[in-house]
Amino acid sequence: MNSDAEQIPANSAMTQLERQVERGSFFTHTAIGQNRVRLSEVESFTYGLIDTLVSKGIVSSEEISEATQNVRAQMEDDELGIGVAIRVDPAIETEQKTVEVDCSQRMHICKAVCCKLDFALTSTEIESGKVKWDLGTPYFIRHEVDGLCTHINRETGGCTVYADRPAICRGYSCARDKRIWKDFEKMELNQDWIDEHFVEVRPRALKVLMDHSAK
Ligand code: SF4
Ligand code: SF4
Repeated sequence: MNSDAEQIPANSAMTQLERQVERGSFFTHTAIGQNRVRLSEVESFTYGLIDTLVSKGIVSSEEISEATQNVRAQMEDDELGIGVAIRVDPAIETEQKTVEVDCSQRMHICKAVCCKLDFALTSTEIESGKVKWDLGTPYFIRHEVDGLCTHINRETGGCTVYADRPAICRGYSCARDKRIWKDFEKMELNQDWIDEHFVEVRPRALKVLMDHSAK
């Protein structure tokens, strides 16, 4: 790396792009590696099984070939991607009411820690193109190297996509989230939990989910 690259600010568009390409490549290579291991295990098992069955005269090669084609056609109809998450929100809201939180009163303490929580986007949110997802963990909300959501204003703590923020952000309230507040009324953070779970890890492996059940 040359000295010019070291001078690029950590939050510049170029740095963000570089990080996303790095994370996207990591995801691709990990998925390819895992698939190769699994494929080789399945291949060994399958050939061993077929050889045994054919040698014992239990099935013929033609029968195996026909069955394989049928299964292949079925799998092409309903195959799902590996390692990709899409959120599906329940159609009916629970009866539990969301507790309103005055973030401006707490921001100096919480530093918007809730925007470090992870969550997958819905298909509608992905397709709208208003909210960025992480190429390293599709289709989870994107975070930057400081652990905060890409869309947070680092100076004010406000959401820069407020009008288009994901539904899970609209429904979330930290008031009953014991992971965030040890004592909500006294504004006492659960610093131990926060320190343990929001360590910057590259690649980020530990997911701490934004959860409506905490509202
Ligand atoms: S929801 Fe809670 S944790 Fe998030 S910014 Fe508001 S007060 Fe802070
Ligand atoms: S989209 Fe907005 S509200 Fe949701 S996590 Fe990101 S900054 Fe926070």
